[in-house]
Amino acid sequence: MSIAVCPGSFDPITVGHLDIISRTAKLFDQVIVVVMINRKKPSGVFTPEERVDFIRRSTADISNVTVDFYDGLLAEYVEKKGAVAIVKGLRVLSDYEDEFKQALTNKKLAENVETIFMVTDTQYMFLSSSVVKEVCSFGGDISDFVPAQIKDDIVKRLRER
Ligand code: ADP
Repeated sequence: MSIAVCPGSFDPITVGHLDIISRTAKLFDQVIVVVMINRKKPSGVFTPEERVDFIRRSTADISNVTVDFYDGLLAEYVEKKGAVAIVKGLRVLSDYEDEFKQALTNKKLAENVETIFMVTDTQYMFLSSSVVKEVCSFGGDISDFVPAQIKDDIVKRLRER
């Protein structure tokens, strides 16, 4: 059975993330979406539990997707799960430099695991969790940015801050 891992902060999940996850689910038998703490973005808005819950609800109709939280080394996690690939989404060139370094590091740490870059759908090129938080905090409509099942909860949480 081929297992892929889609890691990220998912603070919160967007329709851009969901597109990468659902396309990955067509290529592998099982996909594990794992919420991780990005040390470069320490001040997340949503708790790990909320992020996991949002992803679970957003992927409920994709039968081969499971969701997890891990606060540790990705390479270690992937090997522990017996996964063969880490799948990352790429939007703009600026994503590439850091992702490239991470991929080389993970190859060094887990030599049997491949990092696969999936190019974003053009309609999601601009989209990130930060865009969602910014637009919503100024009262903008995020209906096109996050999965419909979680939109109201995200708006409520962001506006009560
Ligand atoms: P991280 O903190 O690790 O960058 P993110 O939650 O921001 O975590 O992103 C997780 C993954 O999803 C990354 O590989 C990122 O490039 C990808 N991603 C984020 N937004 C999009 C998008 N709109 N289209 C395609 N991939 C995306």
